[in-house]
Amino acid sequence: NTPTPLLSLNNVEVIYDSVSLAIKGVSLEVPQGGMVALLGANGAGKSTTLKSISGLLRPERGQVSRGEVRFQGQNIDALAPQERVKLGIVHVLEGRRVFEHMTPDENLIAASAVRGNRQDMLRNKDMVYSYFKRLYQRRTAQSGYLSGGEQQMLAIGRALMTQPKLLMLDEPSLGLAPFLVAEIFEIVQDINKKEGLSVLLVEQNAIAALEVVSHGYLIENGRIVMHDSAEAMKKNPDIQEFYLGGA
Ligand code: ATP
Repeated sequence: NTPTPLLSLNNVEVIYDSVSLAIKGVSLEVPQGGMVALLGANGAGKSTTLKSISGLLRPERGQVSRGEVRFQGQNIDALAPQERVKLGIVHVLEGRRVFEHMTPDENLIAASAVRGNRQDMLRNKDMVYSYFKRLYQRRTAQSGYLSGGEQQMLAIGRALMTQPKLLMLDEPSLGLAPFLVAEIFEIVQDINKKEGLSVLLVEQNAIAALEVVSHGYLIENGRIVMHDSAEAMKKNPDIQEFYLGGA
């Protein structure tokens, strides 16, 4: 008897324009407290998979998903994005969107409006700053002037203010120097371990991602083509050739 996974996708398909499938039957799981990567090249279907989980597809524009998304055993397909946030699912979109004219402190406070009282807000803010110490040092600067790495930290910090159970990160490494990617990934791993927060990390940067997750999925052309432990994936010849820059 395996315990119910926190998140499970069963044969999920997404259509954008009523013609072709962007993802073609994706099945994956994130265990309670797990940290899992979804790896793949540009356009493979990673962002689409995350949208099917957070509910950010737009049916009125012909964007439809089929199959089943379960969270804590409950089918959530009919729930609106804000209802999924209340259940504990948070999606940090690609491109680290923060309020540029506000300080990091104000950004974090604004993000907490979703949940809890003032005491929770202050506690969550302290928690974010305890992990992202750079952000604490910059807490009164204008967010638009933060570096790319600091903005990514703030985007993740804002997500943490909603007290999520599942943190989904879309391509957090994009455009960041390798040392910063490593720093941010290690902090997320630390949060995963200490707070028990489950993480689904979407990345093209397989090298960095496989250092911090326990398991990974590889998606190609809208299909999951590999699922294994991070250690096994790092040793896999195909992964080495196509995603780790050659063996
Ligand atoms: P990237 O990291 O570049 O976003 P990805 O792996 O996340 O890549 P998706 O963005 O999920 O890939 O895209 C999967 C497929 O769906 C691609 O073929 C893409 O062109 C298509 N697609 C994505 N968004 C839309 C959209 N809004 N309308 C139509 N097609 C889309």
